[in-house]
Amino acid sequence: MTDVPTLVPYDEAIARYEPVIGLETHVELSTVTKMFCGSPAEFGAEPNASVCPVCLGLPGSLPVVNRAAIEYTIRIGLALNCSIASWCRFARKNYFYPDMPKNFQISQYDEPLCTDGWLDVTVDETRVRVGIERVHLEEDTGKSLHVGGATGRIHGADYSLVDYNRAGIPLVEVVTKPIPGTGALAPVVARAYVTELRELLRALGVSDVRMEEGSLRSDVNTSLAPRGSGAWGTRTETKNVNSLRSVERAVRFEIERQAAVLDGGGRVIQETRHFHEDSGTTTPGRSKEEAQDYRYFPEPDLVPIAPSPEWVEKLRATLPELPSARQARLQAEWGLSDGEMAALRNAGALDLVAETVAAGAAPAEAGKWWLGELARRANESGVELAALPVAPAQVARVCELVASGTLNDKLARLVLDGVLAGEGSPDEIVAARGLAVVSDDAALLAAVDEAIAANPEVAAKIRSGKTAAAGVLVGAVMKATRGQADAARVGELILQRLTES
Ligand SMILES: [Zn+2]
Repeated sequence: MTDVPTLVPYDEAIARYEPVIGLETHVELSTVTKMFCGSPAEFGAEPNASVCPVCLGLPGSLPVVNRAAIEYTIRIGLALNCSIASWCRFARKNYFYPDMPKNFQISQYDEPLCTDGWLDVTVDETRVRVGIERVHLEEDTGKSLHVGGATGRIHGADYSLVDYNRAGIPLVEVVTKPIPGTGALAPVVARAYVTELRELLRALGVSDVRMEEGSLRSDVNTSLAPRGSGAWGTRTETKNVNSLRSVERAVRFEIERQAAVLDGGGRVIQETRHFHEDSGTTTPGRSKEEAQDYRYFPEPDLVPIAPSPEWVEKLRATLPELPSARQARLQAEWGLSDGEMAALRNAGALDLVAETVAAGAAPAEAGKWWLGELARRANESGVELAALPVAPAQVARVCELVASGTLNDKLARLVLDGVLAGEGSPDEIVAARGLAVVSDDAALLAAVDEAIAANPEVAAKIRSGKTAAAGVLVGAVMKATRGQADAARVGELILQRLTES
């Protein structure tokens, strides 16, 4: 066995093989308490502080279902166009794991709460409808910390610590149907799906959806079959991919790796794989060729869940405007093309532009500043656009100052400089730095006369009727006033001075 598998270049792999992808996404719900007990569910408590007899699995303790978690899950199901079960049960999934104190996990097995929905995603202006197989609820496990080794894994560690704070946190799993027919776009579709799902969950307010903290993580399934064969290949499942970029890279890598296996006459092994952020590669985990027997059976300590149609309709009425509907509305209101809208989304600027417009800016102006100057600054500092220390209301104020003629674009950039440097509000910076456009004729005329005196040949040309030469003098005045002159007014004054006297 070699560590680095052979790969086929992506374009070649796609030319010969058709990928099918699928995603299973785990979402930690942001309920106040855990799934089956009253322990607080907040993130970041002292280890083993948020525990009680139920989530520690102590003898004699009994679980009670968290109503809020059920409501959150039904709302997720409704937002994903699923059918809501009128009757379903939790099941026990039996296996041993040191950070799972009961030695079984309460989950949903063959009776999920929500089934058979869909979520539309848009990639390169193409809409892909991703089928949703099921949305079910389960409880999270605790966390093991392996101390003393080089890798943080159990191998080589001196000892391990267990933190049960996460044990029993409500966890929703959203499982897609297999997604065929995406061809070369498969990695991008996978990423777009997780992005869209994350936005939807955020809009619903059911999870903080922080991928870097593990509150949203995806298992990514990938298989390949020879083009035109009509068959589906054996899939691998890359576990716990926890960034959008990694979702895309994991699919891409698996396509390149599996193509090499198939090209070499081998067969892809059905297994779970681990994704490595540093190298962008996957390595084998557990083989799934022999299905584990979890001895699932209905959880005897819990009553079934039977949401009444009235309750479901009540929850449906609480759904907010969903991201796809909101985007369609904003695109129409702002008069943007699909491509312009995609540019805003890809830059992570949609909400920022929406807030800037809400604060009074014209959509085109708001988009121009966020996608241009500010995106460039974010890129230079290596931060997300939203992390720049400038508020949408401040950008709106800059747009207003440009619209009113107080600032031109060049001065507006200097004002944004000041805002980013923490010098205060746009108005304070205009005042403190003296950045307003000078359109006062008396002040401008002095500079105009100086420019004429310094460029007698140009002045003579203009006097003889070649008014196009005035641009040279306008440039000289703009330079002399450090860009603060109203260029249009300067042009008028120059022509007045030289042709009307
Ligand atoms: Zn508890």
